[in-house]
Amino acid sequence: MKNPLIKELLALEPQGQEVHVQGWVRTKRELKNLVFIEVNDGSCFRSIQCTFDLNTPLDEPSREAIKEISTGAAVHIEGKLVPSPAEGQPLEVAGTRAVLVGPAPAESYPLQKKRHSFEFLREIAHLRARTNTFGAVARVRSRLAFAIHQFFQSRGFQYIHTPIITASDCEGAGAMFQVTTLDLEGLARSGKPVDYTKDFFGKPSYLTVSGQLEAETYATALSRVYTFGPTFRAENSNTTRHLAEFWMVEPEVAFAHLEDDMELAEEFLKELFTVALTDCREDLEFFDSRIQNGIIRTLEQVVQSRFTHMTYTDAIRELEKKADRFEFKPSWGCDLQSEHEKYLTEEVAHGPVIVTDYPKEIKAFYMKLNDDGKTVRAMDVLVPRLGEIIGGSEREERLEVLERRILELGMKLEDYWWYLDLRRFGTVPHAGFGLGFERLILYVTGMTNIRDVIPYPRAVGQADF
Ligand code: ATP
Ligand code: MN
Repeated sequence: MKNPLIKELLALEPQGQEVHVQGWVRTKRELKNLVFIEVNDGSCFRSIQCTFDLNTPLDEPSREAIKEISTGAAVHIEGKLVPSPAEGQPLEVAGTRAVLVGPAPAESYPLQKKRHSFEFLREIAHLRARTNTFGAVARVRSRLAFAIHQFFQSRGFQYIHTPIITASDCEGAGAMFQVTTLDLEGLARSGKPVDYTKDFFGKPSYLTVSGQLEAETYATALSRVYTFGPTFRAENSNTTRHLAEFWMVEPEVAFAHLEDDMELAEEFLKELFTVALTDCREDLEFFDSRIQNGIIRTLEQVVQSRFTHMTYTDAIRELEKKADRFEFKPSWGCDLQSEHEKYLTEEVAHGPVIVTDYPKEIKAFYMKLNDDGKTVRAMDVLVPRLGEIIGGSEREERLEVLERRILELGMKLEDYWWYLDLRRFGTVPHAGFGLGFERLILYVTGMTNIRDVIPYPRAVGQADF
């Protein structure tokens, strides 16, 4: 790469050295004979100011370009890196040459300098990465995705690629998208029943809702594994916390119990927050001042604190004390609603809470049964503002107990033959969890709608771009 990024230029000592700047114009201002052009290339939050003095010798094409440059245009600027007389920026480029690489006509370019609503920006998602907010979200996403790999790789975890298409609705974590090559219109016209032996895989198949079951097969061979990939849920819930396509991180650890799982989840979140606080500082400062006041302080406090632990039974007891304030009355056996999660994190714990030992009826079949026969070794990590950010459990490693549970739920043992094999051959206690990557980004940035922390959100009725 010949030309430096603006991030690299901003880190230099200004000594009048020749530099090239390439990027997109955020603003152009004119003051008498001076023209100030703010250029941003997305490499960091800040833009670099390029100043042209029209009273100095400039070639004719440059004068023409300076005249035509407008917000959104792609430019190439040459000049000298000098200390800036302006406040709030240590350096600027004293321009000597300007090239208008790609114009952005002011009459039609939708991103003029004024503030746009997130709703509007969702409609022009192909351009929104050029705004401060979406540039910052993209950088935080990128850095944290890398941090996830660093966290696990430095602890001996192997990265496993679990399938996206699955022909077994094993997990039951949510409604699934069907994948088919059958001619649906032809079938509808024929009025005949669907013959899945004619479908691509010879049976109904779907997009995965979780890589967990496959990850378990590798954990019971490689000891510590993780997946990090897209997952799909055909949830008809139009909330600010659910997407139809989202990225999930799922570690799975052999010879581990629920306590180890909770420990791992807490260490994991704290490390990711620490990386954001140190490596995404400028972006977080923006979120702190413009999106969610105090987010930096909150993250710093969470990193310092111990997460509160609470059993589901204790959580319900706590909620019942304040029963009148909830729309959904809390009672033992019901799933925690988001208003309950909000109360527990914001008013009881004042920070993240790990709730454990949920009733088996509201959790998945593979979670390890406690001795009480009623609850399972599940754990959810709840955080203020969002509620559930992580869901995990110790898995049932006892063959008979797992078989009994599968039958109890009216499912067929033969559908789980390979999963049950893990309990037949060299079974071990093991545990893992799933972190919704976009929920993590929501928490770290303070953004409120999950559709604004993924480049191209997919949700009910929304699959544009
Ligand atoms: P919720 O109760 O919030 O709908 P869940 O219990 O259905 O979540 P899990 O099956 O436990 O979710 O999935 C593990 C994690 O994946 C969750 O803790 C959450 O962070 C994330 N997640 C689940 N569903 C979605 C979704 N539709 N969009 C984005 N993230 C999700
Ligand atoms: Mn969950």
